[in-house]
Amino acid sequence: MIIEQIWTGNAYRNFNYLIACPETGEAMAIDPLDYKKCLDVATARGWQITQVLNTHEHFDHTGGNEKVIAATGAKLLAHVNAGDSIGGMDRGLQAGDVVKVGNTVELETLDTPGHTMSHVCLLSHTEIPALFCGDTLFNAGAGNCHHGGHPKELYGTFARQLSQLADNTRVYPGHDYLANNLEFTLDREPDNEQASDLLDNVRDQDPNKALVSTLGMEKEINTFFRLQSPTVIAKLREVFPDLSEQPDPETVFLKLRELRNSW
Ligand SMILES: [Zn+2]
Ligand SMILES: [Zn+2]
Repeated sequence: MIIEQIWTGNAYRNFNYLIACPETGEAMAIDPLDYKKCLDVATARGWQITQVLNTHEHFDHTGGNEKVIAATGAKLLAHVNAGDSIGGMDRGLQAGDVVKVGNTVELETLDTPGHTMSHVCLLSHTEIPALFCGDTLFNAGAGNCHHGGHPKELYGTFARQLSQLADNTRVYPGHDYLANNLEFTLDREPDNEQASDLLDNVRDQDPNKALVSTLGMEKEINTFFRLQSPTVIAKLREVFPDLSEQPDPETVFLKLRELRNSW
């Protein structure tokens, strides 16, 4: 499996992806908003884009579909319930469905509600797993729930699915928000040395060569995975004095999500 992370350089800081089979040259484009860059990369690598996958229905993920499909004849895949909001879907995906690219690539569908209620993440069946997580999980952060989502569902996705994946899983999100998210982690957990060291390293990173984190790293530097941290809980109680001394993880997650909305 070959992964190309494509930095769009737009105001929303989107990442697009091409995933290719090294044997056949078939490729899948994930959320190819910058259709021109995606088509150019495919041409330069000698790949044929045969599928387009949208992680969810927001325009900054679907806006390039038509142009890529017009140029390539690719089939369009998205969450089975996204048919009303994404035009021209060819295949609706449910939890456990496998998406194949060429002969060698198999990606498993995770049904991951929260950012929206029809959001999928794709997990590769490779020795080192790769997770294409759209706007559900960001490097050092979590998606917002303002546009069709629910924070409780997002918590469920983090607790029951993402946190259960192998620590060596590589994380490929839909946006580059790493530096800003690390600032939030440090606002909530000022004594998190790993987050502060990482921020020093990535503050001026070139998004064309962005750091690819792992889930193991996220558990150290992403406040939405650090729901038992004594510092996180103590700092939350300064803002929410009614919070108990040992709040359950869901409550901590929801309070963090609430704070992040206005941070
Ligand atoms: Zn979105
Ligand atoms: Zn987005």
